[in-house]
Amino acid sequence: MFDAKFADCRHMTDTLNIPGTPGPGNSTFSRRRREHEDGKILVGILRKPTCFDNANKEMDLTYRFVYMWLAMLCCWFYSPSILADEYTRERQQMVDEIEADVRATSQYLRKEALDPRVMKAMDQVLRHEFVPSDQQRLAYLNRPLPIGHGQTISQPYIVAIMTDLLEPAPNSKVLEIGTGSGYQAAVLAELVKEVYSIEIIRPLGEQAADRLSRLRYDNVKTAIGDGYYGWEARAPFDAIVVTAAASHIPPPLIKQLKVGGRMMIPVGSRFLTQQLLLITKEEGDKITTRQILPVRFVPLTGQH
Ligand code: SAM
Repeated sequence: MFDAKFADCRHMTDTLNIPGTPGPGNSTFSRRRREHEDGKILVGILRKPTCFDNANKEMDLTYRFVYMWLAMLCCWFYSPSILADEYTRERQQMVDEIEADVRATSQYLRKEALDPRVMKAMDQVLRHEFVPSDQQRLAYLNRPLPIGHGQTISQPYIVAIMTDLLEPAPNSKVLEIGTGSGYQAAVLAELVKEVYSIEIIRPLGEQAADRLSRLRYDNVKTAIGDGYYGWEARAPFDAIVVTAAASHIPPPLIKQLKVGGRMMIPVGSRFLTQQLLLITKEEGDKITTRQILPVRFVPLTGQH
């Protein structure tokens, strides 16, 4: 369509730019020229809208039409219900990937699959609600993501195996050190009666508390402080999960664990990979330690 118009334009322009030359194929022009020569038109020729103007107008309309459609398409794609469906699909994919990773690391985990209750919780928690808005489209990738203040939300596979190895029971009371985004706390909250979570970076802790309350995780209580010392007033705990790398196992946390209780903690140098440990507490503050697999966490900070 446009080619035809431009061909036409070239023709008209050529015609109009050569005064005195009969304008082939342009009868209006020829008539006006004749009238001009006959003295009927004395003062110039009113500028006739050229086909450039017409073509521009039509292109304008076409562009507007295309832009309108694109805008409508974007509104449709980003509409809450379409996004929610997309996130549900991506979350299912994430769960499938975790299952595949568990199978691939079964020799470390000593199991081929995680507790179906844990996998259901992974499928239920809306991870996109726990990441900054510019990370939301990546929320269901099986990888850690930045959450600000130099911290990260852990990789979903790591959250799943740490939760599974704690063997959370419906009536358990669990302590988490390192609230971060609140995601791990939310996963635990789907599975146990009470979750207590401590974060050392105030803005992160406050943001997570608001988020958990908005998402109605009413069984999570949060606090700001150095989690190395645990939460004495709420001890003892059936399970403790530390989501930052410690140089050693904090004695206050062992004290606050019930006999028979389990703790998951990454231990090692803050600059190298650490070992994810499963600690089980026995009578008389004795512990047994099992190395699960090498991991990489942000460091457990504080003055301890
Ligand atoms: N569990 C978090 C989540 O689901 O988003 C991710 C935890 S992020 C890998 C580790 C968190 O531990 C950071 O938010 C960091 O500020 C926090 N942290 C580091 N040292 C801490 C300490 N001594 N007490 C409490 N929190 C600490």
